[in-house]
Amino acid sequence: MKPPRKLLWRLFFSYLFIALGALFLAGWHFLHTLEKFFEDQLTADLFGRARMIEPQIRPLLDPVQAPAVDALCKLSGRHTGTRFSVILPDGTVVGDTWVAPESLDNHAGRPEIAAALAAGSGRSRRYSYTLRQNVLYAAVAADTDGHRLGVIRAAIPLSRMEAQIGDMRLEFLAVGGIVALLALGVTLLISRQYGRKIDELKEGAARLARGELGHRLRAPDSEELGGLAESLNRMAEELESRLQTVIRQRNELEAVLSSMLEGVLAVDRGERILSLNPAAARWFDLDAERVRGKTVPEAIRNLAIQQFIAQALQTPGSLEEDITVYRGGERTLNIKSTPLRGGGDEAIGVLIVFSDVTRLRRLEEVRRDFVANVSHEIKTPLTAIQGFVETLQQHGTGEAEETARFLQIIARHVGRLNAIVDDLLLLSRIENEDERGELALEAVRLRDLFHGAVQVCRPKAEDRRIAIAIETDPQLTLDADPVLLEQALVNLLDNAIKYSEPGQSVHLRGRSTGARVVIEVQDHGIGIEKKHLPRLFERFYRVDKARSRNQGGTGLGLAIVKHIAQAHGGRVTVESQLGEGSLFRLELPRGGGQEAAGGNHQPKRPVM
Ligand code: ADP
Repeated sequence: MKPPRKLLWRLFFSYLFIALGALFLAGWHFLHTLEKFFEDQLTADLFGRARMIEPQIRPLLDPVQAPAVDALCKLSGRHTGTRFSVILPDGTVVGDTWVAPESLDNHAGRPEIAAALAAGSGRSRRYSYTLRQNVLYAAVAADTDGHRLGVIRAAIPLSRMEAQIGDMRLEFLAVGGIVALLALGVTLLISRQYGRKIDELKEGAARLARGELGHRLRAPDSEELGGLAESLNRMAEELESRLQTVIRQRNELEAVLSSMLEGVLAVDRGERILSLNPAAARWFDLDAERVRGKTVPEAIRNLAIQQFIAQALQTPGSLEEDITVYRGGERTLNIKSTPLRGGGDEAIGVLIVFSDVTRLRRLEEVRRDFVANVSHEIKTPLTAIQGFVETLQQHGTGEAEETARFLQIIARHVGRLNAIVDDLLLLSRIENEDERGELALEAVRLRDLFHGAVQVCRPKAEDRRIAIAIETDPQLTLDADPVLLEQALVNLLDNAIKYSEPGQSVHLRGRSTGARVVIEVQDHGIGIEKKHLPRLFERFYRVDKARSRNQGGTGLGLAIVKHIAQAHGGRVTVESQLGEGSLFRLELPRGGGQEAAGGNHQPKRPVM
């Protein structure tokens, strides 16, 4: 293939060819016309001269007086610089200006002579061997009374005219050469100029093609190139704005995907990873950039997910499943798949969304257990009540002592039911107030709270001969809901009394540790086995069910304490040794400038 030639040179050579062609064609035509004009002029002149001497020749031809004719030819010819010849109708030359007529051959065949003999006049231009140059001939017939006597021919060499035309040709060539050179220069200049503009456009377009869409082409002053530059600029603007839109949309999408807590993974039909967001990458410890293009089994080492994605790719609709993964402990992941559709609505893969539902599932479990527990807790006293009521119905109320005992048992179970319902109501109240942030906090003196709680527990304590010792700074205050906090202390003291042996003592201590207030309830009672400690604060959890029931416990006391602590932005912990006693510790923010209001207040937390 020939290498492409530069437009500049194509234009240049075409222009040059056309300019020079036109110049030489016009010149040639002009010179040719001029030569013909001169020749016609000369011919007319020659006819004139022949006709001028015809009246003098004619009498000498009838009869023919050859020497006189020749003498006249020589004389007139010398005067006018013309060669005159006189030819008889048979072609014999009888007179000639330059040579002796006898030396000339028969002239009847000469074209101008033949024409003049036939039609009265004739002309010709040809090379004369006599004169050795081009000669112009004009011949007229000499007639008398319709009788052709002969032909008078005037001839003149063309050397002068040809020399003149030759000079003009040279002059024309010189002028033509100069004009051609000028045209050449101007064409080169214009072509160069255009070439430069085109090169500039080419360079500009190349920069646009390289992606420098901010670059703008300078519009040349010619209409076509200017229009081209403008079109390219408009195209670049349009491309730039579309690119900006695409980038903005991509950034928005990336921002959305990046800030999602859910993991998002797009997979093509060949199980190749198209993209994934940071949350998905974190879940499976992947490098988002590196795994792109890899297949799911290569990148994600989790059989359940591999199987789920393989199945999702075979399913036209959506799929959902819970799977267990180990990541700093057992976590439950909910995975959903949706088919990914291309522009033509064809399935090009699947979109997988992972969400961590560990807490949600645990919550569901807790709620399920809670309902079961509540039902069970309520069912026990209800069954007992029903049993005693039925017995009374069947056997009547004959024996007053027995009847009184049954009614007492029924009353105790009703009391238990009441206690359970009261505790449940209290729990839900704390939860509601905590969630809505409606806890009525006020500055309370710790000592007053302690005295209030001890007051409530005193009868039971005295019953069991248990002394309660209070140790606290009388000035120590904290921001709290006094009713709820006293309830928490009552629950802890009640347990301490319940699970102590008669005669033992219980300590109630309060102290400040900077921003926090620590309240401790310590007993020296039966204590708790270590394995029970993690679940101790769950609703209805009891170490010894029978003992708890005998003591009138609902199994909700510690759950209530925990919720009250959390509603105040604090927490409750326990230390215990079987047989040696327990220490329950409440840690609460002091508030009231010690800590920003609600600083530690967490309105939402798991219900467990
Ligand atoms: P209950 O109404 O049964 O006392 P709680 O929620 O108050 O329910 O307590 C849960 C369980 O924790 C109790 O059943 C008991 O086994 C154990 N417990 C609570 N406080 C003490 C304590 N001071 N000493 C020993 N065991 C305790």
